Amino acid sequence: MAACFAVMSEKILIVEDEIDVAELLGHHLRGEGFSVEIANNGRVAFAIIKNQPPALIVLDLMLPEISGLELCRMIRSNPGTSHVPIVMLSARTEEIDRVLGFELGADDYVVKPFSPRELVLRIRAILRRFSQDKEQVLLRVGDLVLDRSRHEVRAADRVIDCTATEFKLLAVLMERQGRVQERDRLLTDVWGYDSVIDTRTVDTHMRRLRDKLGPHGSYIETIRGFGYRLALQGGA
Ligand code: CA
Repeated sequence: MAACFAVMSEKILIVEDEIDVAELLGHHLRGEGFSVEIANNGRVAFAIIKNQPPALIVLDLMLPEISGLELCRMIRSNPGTSHVPIVMLSARTEEIDRVLGFELGADDYVVKPFSPRELVLRIRAILRRFSQDKEQVLLRVGDLVLDRSRHEVRAADRVIDCTATEFKLLAVLMERQGRVQERDRLLTDVWGYDSVIDTRTVDTHMRRLRDKLGPHGSYIETIRGFGYRLALQGGA
């Protein structure tokens, strides 16, 4: 058992002002072998994240001063932290809808009250898919390049600032270039498990990814009623 714990020493940062919730979750995560740090407000959290990015951030939506929403935006827009996976906590499903509406770039979300066990499973699933990413290297389609070792996407030498989920999504499409990917398949392969996330989430992330890619966004082709395909524009 000790050997099993030794493998899981990644640091999880919990950002939550409700001490009881933070401590309970922290207790569970430590019990699973994670190292845990707790920040009770967004300012402290961002300082910690910038100084030493954790393996994953559990971020509560309702925080004093800087809201979870704003903090998420700050993390995503900072090149040193934009790749860190974020699991959002929220008290109500309406808030979740709003968060998704804002297309924030959280990798997953959990509604309170939540089961710590369920949350741990989700955290593991996310960490697993991001550690798999690191094992592979360079993907290239035309002058679109995805470098896993540097966690960097370049389109004609322009660096594209991608979130962790967009990066994974683009990697999957590039790995399977020329082949149509069903939205359900993308959901499973990119998000890693069946969840409350529906296939519209794929569309939302894909739209944002295309926008970020600029002219290279046209590499991603929509196959109506089915899914997506990445191919060199006019390369057939
Ligand atoms: Ca809170």
